[in-house]
This record gives sequence, C-alpha cells and structure tokens, in this order.
Amino acid sequence: MDATLILPRIDSDLCTGCGDCVGVCHVNALAIQELRAVMVRADDCDYCTDCEAICPVLAIACPFEVVVAG
Ligand code: SF4
Ligand code: SF4
Repeated sequence: MDATLILPRIDSDLCTGCGDCVGVCHVNALAIQELRAVMVRADDCDYCTDCEAICPVLAIACPFEVVVAG
C-alpha cells in the first residue's frame, strides 16, 4: 500500500500556521513551511494522532483509527 494514503492529511486551506501540531509531534514529523504545516518526515510518523487532536481548526485528518484489542 502507498504509505502516503494513510498519513495524516493537512488541509492547507484551513491551516493557520499556528504551529501547535509541530510542537506536539513527538517524532518531529511536521514543520511549518511558508506559513502552513507540512509533513516533512513521513517515515517517522507513528500515527499517534496527537496532531489531529491538537489542531484548533481541524485542519488535520488522520485517516486511520487506532484500535486497542481486548
Ligand atoms: S500522527 Fe503523531 S507522529 Fe504522526 S505527524 Fe501526527 S503527531 Fe506526529
Ligand atoms: S495545528 Fe492545525 S492550524 Fe496549527 S499549524 Fe498545525 S495544521 Fe495548521
């Protein structure tokens, strides 16, 4: 499967460039470039969804769901 299909998606039309997602990403996969958040180290993303949770304008969508077994 193409990994880009399951990475967090950032809507640059909604993103205000606040940087909250960059600060919360514990593997530094995100960065602000030209006043918008971008995925700069996709290989490091571990799908924690913290960026989606913190974005105040809902510009990040994580198209995956973490299911805890049991
Ligand atoms: S899902 Fe987690 S690891 Fe991936 S970019 Fe967002 S905060 Fe970083
Ligand atoms: S938290 Fe949301 S609005 Fe702020 S930089 Fe990240 S994607 Fe953009």
